[in-house]
Amino acid sequence: MRRPVIAGNWKMYKTQAETRAFFAALKPQVAGSTHCDIVVAPPYTALAAAVEAVRGSAISIAAQDVHWEKEGAFTGEVSTKMLVEAGCRGVIIGHSERRQYFGETDEAVHKKLKAALEADLVPIVCVGETLKEREAGQTETVLNRQFRGGFSTLTGAEFSRIIIAYEPVWAIGTGRTATPEMAAEAHRFLRQLAAAGFTPERAAGLRILYGGSVKPDNIKGLMAQVEIDGALVGGASLDAQSFASIVNF
Ligand code: PEP
Repeated sequence: MRRPVIAGNWKMYKTQAETRAFFAALKPQVAGSTHCDIVVAPPYTALAAAVEAVRGSAISIAAQDVHWEKEGAFTGEVSTKMLVEAGCRGVIIGHSERRQYFGETDEAVHKKLKAALEADLVPIVCVGETLKEREAGQTETVLNRQFRGGFSTLTGAEFSRIIIAYEPVWAIGTGRTATPEMAAEAHRFLRQLAAAGFTPERAAGLRILYGGSVKPDNIKGLMAQVEIDGALVGGASLDAQSFASIVNF
């Protein structure tokens, strides 16, 4: 039985004060929510405030990105050690906005993933096709390439510590959600790749989240699919009430 994960990706939203207000509103609404892991990924500048705000609750804090080097002359970057010290338990890697706007490659994703695993951070690694790729019938080719590029050199033990988020790029922030069946089909394909690349047991234990315009009114349908183990939520994670409704699907 795979434990569901509901994760919020705040992107470049919320100051420290807004972060404190969000958690003050969220915590009572999810205090009894023991059915899933709850993760929130604020921007770097709000990480410490978030970690402080969730102390004593079951909510864990993740970063939205990380650099693979331990330290060095990499202006603007942040290391795994810095995230761990700030109290992060996980990190999002390879989000499509990083791939699209900041030129992140499968190779960079792989290096970040290795660094996160080495630091004992739980990586949530994003994969997914663009609209053009889907319309050209290339969804599986793209997922295959991202899977191989990101994960193929992991050991089985490392692979069992990752979470994958299937996020079709055309559904992110657009209000266009993949139907539960479309998402489940992609998840099934990813699980087949995991079984072929690792073992059927590791594939069966792999948690695959869906991301792309998840809202309180579509989470139930998505979570009804046995292949869908949770959600990575962007826009709807910014409001405590709506994020709580998604957590309490
Ligand atoms: C995301 O940023 O990962 C995401 C899925 O965004 P949204 O829910 O806003 O589509």
